[in-house]
Amino acid sequence: MALASALPNRPASHLFYQTRQRRPLVERAEGVWFWDSDGRRYLDGSSGAMVSNIGHSHPHVVEAMRRQIGKATFAYRLHFENEAAETLAAKLVGHLTGDLSRVFFVSGGSEAVESCLKLARQYAVATGQGSRYKVISRFPSYHGCTLGALAVTGYTALTAPFAPMMQEMPKIPAPTAYLDRDALTMEQRGLKYADLLEREILAQGPETVLAFIMEPVGGASTGALVAPDSYYGRVREICDRHGVLLIYDEVMSGAGRTGRFLGGDHWAARPDLVALSKGFAAGYSPLGAAVAPDRIVEPVLDAGGFLHGFTYAGNPLACAAGLAVLEVIENEGLVARAASRGDLLKSKLALLMERYPFIGDVRGKGLLLAFELVADRETMAPLEPSLNAHARLVERAFEQGLIVYSRRTRGGRAGDHILVCPPMVVSESEIDELMAMLTAALDAFAAELKL
Ligand code: PLP
Repeated sequence: MALASALPNRPASHLFYQTRQRRPLVERAEGVWFWDSDGRRYLDGSSGAMVSNIGHSHPHVVEAMRRQIGKATFAYRLHFENEAAETLAAKLVGHLTGDLSRVFFVSGGSEAVESCLKLARQYAVATGQGSRYKVISRFPSYHGCTLGALAVTGYTALTAPFAPMMQEMPKIPAPTAYLDRDALTMEQRGLKYADLLEREILAQGPETVLAFIMEPVGGASTGALVAPDSYYGRVREICDRHGVLLIYDEVMSGAGRTGRFLGGDHWAARPDLVALSKGFAAGYSPLGAAVAPDRIVEPVLDAGGFLHGFTYAGNPLACAAGLAVLEVIENEGLVARAASRGDLLKSKLALLMERYPFIGDVRGKGLLLAFELVADRETMAPLEPSLNAHARLVERAFEQGLIVYSRRTRGGRAGDHILVCPPMVVSESEIDELMAMLTAALDAFAAELKL
C-alpha cells in the first residue's frame, strides 16, 4: 500500500531515494517534535532511524557547531590535526570499558563497519595470520549498505542482487530464543545459539576465520533482539578459543540508547572492535567511529599503516557536533534517563498485550524497544506477509502524528515488528502522548485488518 497516498501532493522532484514514495516537507524540529510545511506536528517516536538520541535542535549543540563554523569547517587530516577530533576521541574513550582506546572517525554506520572489518583483516596480516579473512555474522542482521558491510549483512532481499560482487560470508542464526518452543530454559537456549558460532568456526576451519560481528542489542533487522544473558560470555569464550576477533556493531545500540553507554555494557564480555554512528552525533552531523585497542592498532601501524580512510574522516565540524552531543549526554544524565524512561515506556508497551492479542512480544533495553505483531501469540506464528502489517501500522501511526519504525524480518520466517525508540530526552508526559497516539493507531489497524 502506498504510504504517500495519505500525504499532500508534492511537486515533482529531481531527487530519488530507494523508491518513488513521497513524504511531507520538514519545516523544523525541536526536542521530540517535528513540524512539516503545512504546520502539522509529529512526535518522533523512533528518533528518525534511531539517530536523534538527544532530541532535535538542542541549543548546546547548535551553539557549538556555530562556534566551529566560525573557526574552521574543514581541515584535511594529512595537513592538520584538529582540536574537536582530538577532544572527542579522548572523551569517547572515557566512556568505554575494557581496552578500547583508539578511535578512527568516519561519516556513518556502514563506513564504521567497513573500517572494523578492514582493520581486523590488516591486523591478521600484520600478525602472521594472513589465512584469516572470513567474517561470520548472524541471520537476520543489518550492518550497512556498502559492499563489505553488506557481505556480513543477513538480509537476503538486500544482498541477493549484489551476491556476485561480494565475497560470500558465513551466517549463523540470530539468537531468537523467544520464538523457541522447546523444553530448554532461556539460559540453555542462549548457550545453544552461541554454540552455533563454534560449530560454524570449526566447519569453516578456524585458521580461515577472522571475526564474528553482531549487534549486542539488535536494531531494525531483529526488532531490538536481546539474547539470553548466557549468550554473550559464551560467544566471547568461543572467539578466544579460536583466535577470532569479536566485533560489536553498536551503530544503533551505542551512545547511551540502551541505558548503558554501549549496548554490550549490559554484559561482562568485552568486544575487540566496536562500530559506532547514529546516536554518536545524534543527527547533528554525519559521524561514526571504529574503535579498537592498541593491541590491534599498533601492529597495523608498525606494518606500514592502515590502508583505509575517508576524505571527511575527523572533519572538525562533524567532530564539534559529536563532542557537543557527548557533553549533552553527560550534563543531562541521558544514559541513566534512557534506562529509566525506557523502563517506563516498556511497561506501558507490555500493557498493550492485554488489549491487543496480535502483539506477541515486547522487548529491548533502555529506549531501544520493539513489539512484534503475530497471528498467534502461543505459537508466535507471523501475520500473513501479504498483509504488509508493519507498514500499515506505521501509516496509521503517521496519521495520528506519531513516527515509528518498522521491519518485516525474523530468522527464517517473515515477521513484523515495530520499533518505538523516542529520543532519550523524552519526558513522561510525552511518553503518555506517544502511547495515546499509538493506541489510536493500533485500534485503527485492528479494525482495518479485523484482528
Ligand atoms: N549497522 C547497524 C546496526 C545499523 O542499524 C545501520 C543502519 O541502520 C548500519 C550499520 C549502517 O549505518 P548507515 O546507514 O549510517 O551507513
